[in-house]
Amino acid sequence: MPVSIVTGGAGFLGSHLCDALLEKGHTVICLDNLVTGHVANIEHLAGHERFRFIKQDVTEYLYFPGAVDYVFHFASPASPVDYLQLPIQTLKVGALGTHKALGLARAKGARFLLASTSEVYGDPLIHPQPETYWGNVNPVGPRGVYDEAKRFAEALTMAYHRVHAVDTKIVRIFNTYGPRMRLNDGRVVPAFISQALRGEPITVFGDGRQTRSFCFVSDLVEGVIRLAESAEHDPVNIGNPAELTVLDFAETIRRLTGSRSPIVHRPLPVDDPKVRQPDIRRAREVLGWSPRVSLDEGLRRTVDYFRDMV
Ligand code: UDP
Repeated sequence: MPVSIVTGGAGFLGSHLCDALLEKGHTVICLDNLVTGHVANIEHLAGHERFRFIKQDVTEYLYFPGAVDYVFHFASPASPVDYLQLPIQTLKVGALGTHKALGLARAKGARFLLASTSEVYGDPLIHPQPETYWGNVNPVGPRGVYDEAKRFAEALTMAYHRVHAVDTKIVRIFNTYGPRMRLNDGRVVPAFISQALRGEPITVFGDGRQTRSFCFVSDLVEGVIRLAESAEHDPVNIGNPAELTVLDFAETIRRLTGSRSPIVHRPLPVDDPKVRQPDIRRAREVLGWSPRVSLDEGLRRTVDYFRDMV
């Protein structure tokens, strides 16, 4: 049975990926420095005979004895609030961390999958965004630390593929939500749900006409695993194309929680993308993948998770 290393395995996406890989029979080594990841996300796996957690910063040399079949590189701050607070760590994990993870994959003859992002498209001038779009990124703006780190990570991944023939994959992850997001990570899903559940004002940034498209975590993980097992080397978007404005999203959360929280407007963060929607034709064609969980269903499950925490 395969051995998989998941960097960032105690994070929101990484921990769900660990669960899914264990379910498929993999042995899973979870690496995380716990800067934005949490032991609580993996504590249900403690004692599992095929699971091991190593507290490790992936920007440091990665040593692991024995065979490895897959390296899933998911380590990185991923919420705008987090990467604005951790700009240098974000750049380091995208650059040095990706280098170490690729080096490990090369040494082990393992497949490598990079968790990239729709942020590589920046504030897109093409809508929806296909993988062939090169993006519109401000390298010196506050979001540049994340966007450029991930763009560098993609370039390094392709270089390892071309020069060292590492079997690499790149997934461009669009907004994903679900249980185990941090209540206070600043992203719109936990922010609006916690505000609605507490009866506090819902903070819509700007006029709320900017759009996002939200994918439930189980759909995302399914797409990631299909990509890892595929023969595709070019980037593949994984996300749910169901697009809505942030204002409509606030109304949806109010409806699903039965909340009477008022909506208030706050300043729009610098370089906040005005639109975002994945073009998932490549994922459909190459992976036979498309999302299955509707926004209402996914949000109900997410609200249930947060209800006990607020
Ligand atoms: N947003 C908002 N209120 C919040 C948090 C976020 O209106 O309390 C907006 C944010 O400006 C952006 C969208 O919601 O337009 C999604 O933000 P998020 O931080 O979740 O991630 P992004 O898609 O920007 O990476």
